Amino acid sequence: MTRLIDLAGTLEQAASTSRKLTKQQVMADFLKGLAPEDLRRAVSYASGKAFPTTDERVLGISSAILTEVILDLLSVDRLTLRQRVIHQGEIGRALVDIWPVDSNDSSCLTLAELEQAFETLADLTRPATKKPVLTNLFKKCVHPLEACYLTKIILSDMRTGIKEGVLQAAVAQAFGYSFPEVLHAQLLLGDLAEVALLARERRLHEARFRLFHPLEFMLASPIESPQQAPGSWMAENKLDGIRAQVHRSGERTTIFTRTLDQIDESFPDILQQMRSVCDDVLIDGEIVPMRDGKILPFSLLQKRLGRKNITPTVIRACPAMFVAFDLLYLKDRLLLDTPLTERKHLLETLAGRYPDLIVLPSSVVDHPDAIQKAFDQAIESGHEGLMLKNPTSLYTPGRRGGQWLKLKTHLPTLDCVVTAAEYGHGKRRGLLSDYTFAVWSDDQLVNIGKAYSGLTDNEITRLTCTLKSLAVADNGRVFRVRPEVVLEIAFDQILESTRHESGFALRFPRIKRIRYDKKASQADTLERVRALYQSPANRGKKIPSSMSDPQPTLFDGI
Ligand code: AMP
Repeated sequence: MTRLIDLAGTLEQAASTSRKLTKQQVMADFLKGLAPEDLRRAVSYASGKAFPTTDERVLGISSAILTEVILDLLSVDRLTLRQRVIHQGEIGRALVDIWPVDSNDSSCLTLAELEQAFETLADLTRPATKKPVLTNLFKKCVHPLEACYLTKIILSDMRTGIKEGVLQAAVAQAFGYSFPEVLHAQLLLGDLAEVALLARERRLHEARFRLFHPLEFMLASPIESPQQAPGSWMAENKLDGIRAQVHRSGERTTIFTRTLDQIDESFPDILQQMRSVCDDVLIDGEIVPMRDGKILPFSLLQKRLGRKNITPTVIRACPAMFVAFDLLYLKDRLLLDTPLTERKHLLETLAGRYPDLIVLPSSVVDHPDAIQKAFDQAIESGHEGLMLKNPTSLYTPGRRGGQWLKLKTHLPTLDCVVTAAEYGHGKRRGLLSDYTFAVWSDDQLVNIGKAYSGLTDNEITRLTCTLKSLAVADNGRVFRVRPEVVLEIAFDQILESTRHESGFALRFPRIKRIRYDKKASQADTLERVRALYQSPANRGKKIPSSMSDPQPTLFDGI
C-alpha cells in the first residue's frame, strides 16, 4: 500500500532540483517499485490530476472551501493563513510552515484511500456536503508534507516542475521503453497512468486507439502575408466558431473541445445532426452558429457554452452546426499517418453517404497571388481568414508546425493568460473587471498588458466567479490568480515598453472574447509578440476592415 507521504516525499525530492534528468530519475525509481493500482494513482496524482485524463469527473473544490476546512482544523487565524499564502504564492506550500506534526501518529493516508475520497467528493454536488469528507481527509494528514501535497493535488496546482514530459520520460525509463514509444501509446490511450500500467507489464505494443477519449488537436501557425506560404496548399475558409472533435460509434456520439472537455450537453442539436452517421468515426471540425446555411455571429455560440440545460427555445435562438474538415478515424483505422488529401477524400465519400454531415469545401492554391485572392474572398464574405494546409501533411496531434497555416484579417489578436484581476469602478465596483494578462517566455508567463473593455456584464460576472476560485493571493483589491483563463486580446499596435516585464505593451488593448476553449499552455508566446512587433502591419500598414458581410455561407469565399 503506497502512502501519500511516500509520493509527497518523492515529488519533493524531484522538485528540489532544476535538472530534468534528475527529476526523471527520482520519479522512475519511485514508479518502478509500485504495485499496479498504486502506479496508476501515483502517475495521475503526480501530474495534479485527481482522476485519469479520460475520466470526466471533477472534484469541484474551490480554494475557498479548502481554506475553510483548513481554518477549521488549524489554530491559525484567517489573516495569518492569508499572509502565509501570499508569502509562499500557494496554499499547499503555505501549509508546510503551519501544519502541526503529530509525532505519535505514523502517517497512514494511502493513495487508495485518497482515490476513494476523491470518488466520493466527485459524486457530491453541494460544497456543504463535500466539506466533511474533505475535513476527514485533512485530519488524516499527520505530516505537513501530506497536507501540502493533498492540497496541491486537489487544486491541481503542483508547482514541482514535473511536467508531463518528465513523467512520460520517467515511465519510459522505469519500464525499459523509449520515450517515443510511451508518447505514441499515450496518444492512442489518452492517459499516461494507463500507459504506465501497460508498460509495467511489458504490453505497450497492445495499446490500441479507442474512440471516446479525445486526441489533441492539430494546430495552425500564424502567417502575416501570403508570401510566407510558397508552394501548393489546400485552402479553406477560416470559420469563426469552436474547434471540436466528434466521436461516433453505434448510437453513441461525443463532442470534445480543444481543451479536451466534453460538451455534449451544450449541443444536443449537433448530437442529433451526427445521428445519421452509421460508421465508427472521429471527425475534426468547427462548431459554428448557423441557420439555413448562413453562418451567424460568434457571440450566439457563447450563449450555448457552459450551459447544460439547452431548451428548444435556446436552440432556436442560437442554432449550431458541426462543419467537418478532417477525418481521423474510420472503421478501426486510425488515419493520423494518412496524407490530408486522402483523409479529405474519405471524408467527402462519407458525406456522400450521410447528407447531414457537412464538409467544409477546400480548393488548391499554388501561388501567393492565388492565396491573396482566396484570402480577400474569404474576408469579403465575412469569414475570419484563410487556412492553408499542406495537401501531403499527416495529422500531428497537439503540434503547431508549418503544415497548417492561418492567415487572419486585421493585425492578429493575441491569446493571453490572465495573471491578476482587479475590482472595477462605478457599476463594476464589486466585480473583477480589470485584467492583467501575460504571454509565455519559455516556461514563464510575462505580463504584457491590462484590459478592462470588451466583455459584457454577464461575462464579467461569470469571470469574477471563475477568477475568485482561482485566486492564490489578494490584497482586498487585486487578486493574483492561477493562470488558467485565456483572453483573446485585440489591439492597435505593439510598442516597446518598460512598464511590463515582457518589455512590450499593447496600444488600446481590448478583450475580443474569453477563450474557454484554450488552455493556458496554448496561449501566445513572447516570440510571436516580437515577430508581430516587427511586422509591416504593426508599423502602420493599412489594415483591411473585417466582416463586411456578417452572414457568410460555408461556400462564400472558397
Ligand atoms: P486561432 O483560434 O486563431 O488560434 O486559429 C485556430 C483555430 O481556427 C482552430 O483551432 C479552429 O478552431 C479554427 N478554424 C476555423 N476554420 C478552420 C479550418 N478550416 N481548419 C482548421 N481550423 C479552423
